[in-house]
Amino acid sequence: MNKVLCIFLLFMNLTVFSSENIDQLSFFLSKDSMKHIQLDQQYSSIVFEFEASFSDAEVYVEINHEKIQLIEDPHAREGVIRSQLIVPREMFDRLTIISNETIDNISIYTFFVPKPALNKADEKKSILNNCDKPTTIDQATWRSGLPAPAVSPTETDVQHIIVHHSAGSNTNTNYTEVVRNIYTYHTSAPPAGNGWDDIGYNFVIAQDGSIFEGRDGQGLYDGDNVQGAHYCSKNSGTMGVCLLGTYTSETPADTMMRSLLSLCAWKCDKENIDPISSFIHPVSSGSQLDVIAGHRQGCATECPGQEVFDRLGELRNNTSAKWADCNTIASVGEEINPLFDLQARDNILYVTNASNNPLDIVLYSLTGAVIFSQDNVLGEVGFDIKHLPIGVYVVLVEGNGKSVIEKVMRF
Ligand SMILES: [Zn+2]
Repeated sequence: MNKVLCIFLLFMNLTVFSSENIDQLSFFLSKDSMKHIQLDQQYSSIVFEFEASFSDAEVYVEINHEKIQLIEDPHAREGVIRSQLIVPREMFDRLTIISNETIDNISIYTFFVPKPALNKADEKKSILNNCDKPTTIDQATWRSGLPAPAVSPTETDVQHIIVHHSAGSNTNTNYTEVVRNIYTYHTSAPPAGNGWDDIGYNFVIAQDGSIFEGRDGQGLYDGDNVQGAHYCSKNSGTMGVCLLGTYTSETPADTMMRSLLSLCAWKCDKENIDPISSFIHPVSSGSQLDVIAGHRQGCATECPGQEVFDRLGELRNNTSAKWADCNTIASVGEEINPLFDLQARDNILYVTNASNNPLDIVLYSLTGAVIFSQDNVLGEVGFDIKHLPIGVYVVLVEGNGKSVIEKVMRF
């Protein structure tokens, strides 16, 4: 139940308000001032709402002796200006807010989310050398004790993986609690929460590499094909992955990025989409969007943080290499494989078709550029490779309703 209190206090420093689990308080903050607020009970997270952009001001909140700068949340629901959701390591019942500029009206919304029964030891790292689905923590496990999402999720055909950061803490290692608070914030009714059907993302990855399942398919669809709420109101065709933390200037943890790589390789393999290609986004008026893209490629936002955004090119290339590797391993010994043979002699790469069915053959660079291609090959075809740089290439052979990818090395 929400209760609204609007209190304008110019000269008082201490404010006490009573509330249910989720509550709101609005106040005025004068230039270079601080306000102490005593809450009526312990809360697990808090978000601040502003009437206008506060990006020119320096606004801080101090909770449990930690001072956190408020930044504008790139994932707030449409039409509201909010800070990031702040989830301190421990629950809190008091806070101090500090601003170097006058702010006319700040509203605060607090959330109480009980601690999870899940033991931290149950959180699993997910580093894989293949394209299997990495180990994840399913929603029923991390959401235990919280209300279920709304029924009837919407399915979407994913061609784009959208990478986000949560814009939250880089130091809070109570990852399950952070995810539970994000879920509660996203699903609570307005004005406190976003009023969404479920958590906005399809996956959330913690700094230690743990992968949390986001949107729940509820037995109807795979969760990774459920349309989320994360990409500039253009969510169809996308799968949203949120990295916990803020990466405007901090480097993302290697363990987290390796889990993201495993997740991308699995999803690209599952959907058979080339990680380094791009497709027209269905709601972006005909513009091309990378298969692996950052939130900021869809609208004006800092998300996923410059440090993550700068690594997306490397992520695409690594996903591509892993994807090619998976397909090679998966295909060896299968029916089509004995029907052709690859050999290099005198700088010519020969592909020999040992079957009576024509094969389509394409030689790609590892960045996905087509170097040679020939359709309907019967017998032998040779590709002149003497001008190619030394390195690894990929041969795609398709025929008889099957396809095989083989890696070849020019040296
Ligand atoms: Zn984002």
